Amino acid sequence: MTSTREVKQIFNGMPASDGDGVQLTRIIGSPYLNTLDPFLLFDAFGSDKPQDYIGGFPPHPHRGFETVTYMLAGKMRHQDSAGNSGVIESGGVQWMTAGRGIIHSEMPEQEQGLLAGFQLWVNLPAAHKMNAPQYQEKPRTEIPQENRGNGVSLKVIAGKTRLDTRGIIDNTFVDPIYWDVKLDNSSQFEDAIPSGHNAFVYLIEGSVVIGDSDSVVTAGKIAVLDEGDRVNITAAADSRFLLVAGKPLNEPISRAGPFVMNTRAEINQAFADYQAGTLA
Ligand code: MN
Repeated sequence: MTSTREVKQIFNGMPASDGDGVQLTRIIGSPYLNTLDPFLLFDAFGSDKPQDYIGGFPPHPHRGFETVTYMLAGKMRHQDSAGNSGVIESGGVQWMTAGRGIIHSEMPEQEQGLLAGFQLWVNLPAAHKMNAPQYQEKPRTEIPQENRGNGVSLKVIAGKTRLDTRGIIDNTFVDPIYWDVKLDNSSQFEDAIPSGHNAFVYLIEGSVVIGDSDSVVTAGKIAVLDEGDRVNITAAADSRFLLVAGKPLNEPISRAGPFVMNTRAEINQAFADYQAGTLA
């Protein structure tokens, strides 16, 4: 017995500023949509005005979760306190497991032109919040792409498609799906999503109809999906969207700024470790 996921609710993002004055749209982590377990935050940034991004994200800590940066345009340099560094270029992805702690900076590697992309925060289960930090960083050329014909193509960052394409990112904490899907007008995308996963669709451009709904999801909006084990998405224009899903943790969340733990005591410990210089 299969069931197609319908739209549960559609939300707008909220304009926000983070880091050193970076202008972005907060899509998860806003007053409208605070969390979607295991997803804690989802930001979209995109501007060709240097003043909107040039300040970047100077050194800051993280503990207890993962950050996923996916670049659509431009370049972002990251550098951490352990000496790791690299540049995420257009079409590239970085899946960083902060675990027990890192202190890093994320700075635009450009002074002009378009900088666009996303950052998603994925919670870690209690048993893995204090894991050693780990990076998975992949350029555009290594991300598997499926061209299904009939106007459907997708980049498979995480999760396995019904055609058995495996995402380039390994993650067994929440068995995520992270697909970047392109549809020509009127084409239809169908795939499986494990039942029990929370899932959302974020429209980058165009407009789509999800499931049997009459309502059209337009660019800049997030559609949180209802339960089911399949998705069926029809383009109402040439469209591009992210389809993201993950297994909910169903654990208590205690959250303060860059730290996401299970209890207030663990948050206090994170601040104490950061102040003592022992976080990372
Ligand atoms: Mn960061």
